[in-house]
Amino acid sequence: MKPYKNKINRIRSFALSLIFIGVVIMYIGIFFRSNEIVMLIFMFLGVLAIIASTVVYAWIGTLSTRAVRIKCPNCGKHTKMLGRVDMCGHCREPLTLDPELEGKEFDVAYNKSKMSHEESSK
Ligand SMILES: [Zn+2]
Repeated sequence: MKPYKNKINRIRSFALSLIFIGVVIMYIGIFFRSNEIVMLIFMFLGVLAIIASTVVYAWIGTLSTRAVRIKCPNCGKHTKMLGRVDMCGHCREPLTLDPELEGKEFDVAYNKSKMSHEESSK
């Protein structure tokens, strides 16, 4: 299996796992019914995780509008990519918007190196 996933898919699965974590934390809180304060803390943390997940989902929404919609050259399906390099959401084919990087080994560091380059040029 290729090590990197499509960024939007990765963030989406992170948001989904936050909901599960929130539910699990609240579930643990039920075991502390005898201690109201501990139970309330767990409930609060659980709600917090679920709120965080909603925030992440909203963030994905804004990211999606900025993402470039392209047709994957490998599987022919449409996918959204973020940054200079990303993976196809369907077949995990490495994709790039930068012709300089075409044919090069996929590396998420290309996104970071561009970012730091932009900062240094300011
Ligand atoms: Zn593909």
